[in-house]
Amino acid sequence: MKEKILIVEDNPQNMRLIEMVLRAKGYTLFKATDGEEALDMAMRERPDLIIMDMELPKLSGLEVTRKLRETPAFSSIPIIAVTAYAMKGDKEKFVDGGCDAYLSKPINTRELPGVIAQMLQSRQKDNA
Ligand code: MN
Repeated sequence: MKEKILIVEDNPQNMRLIEMVLRAKGYTLFKATDGEEALDMAMRERPDLIIMDMELPKLSGLEVTRKLRETPAFSSIPIIAVTAYAMKGDKEKFVDGGCDAYLSKPINTRELPGVIAQMLQSRQKDNA
């Protein structure tokens, strides 16, 4: 069975774009459009990987990531941070906050599937 991916993104255009790219790869997708919904959806659906916009209503992507990392079930799930406002030190901030990888907007739709496949693969190795 194909892996479950949770897309957290409040911008409808970006959401559609990411959804289209991943749908074509056959992943099972779940969507959340704010930080609280992201937490609820993650707990309920137990995705294999999360794509997390950092700029979200209610809770920021970083706050959601920190909360998930406090939960044992989410201590090692791959989380890819996505941000439109890449500034010096951001990458370090997101990685320190518990994200495994970092992509800047606009999303590179050619790069995204490869990054995801690689992270899912290395996760499987860790669990083996
Ligand atoms: Mn956003």
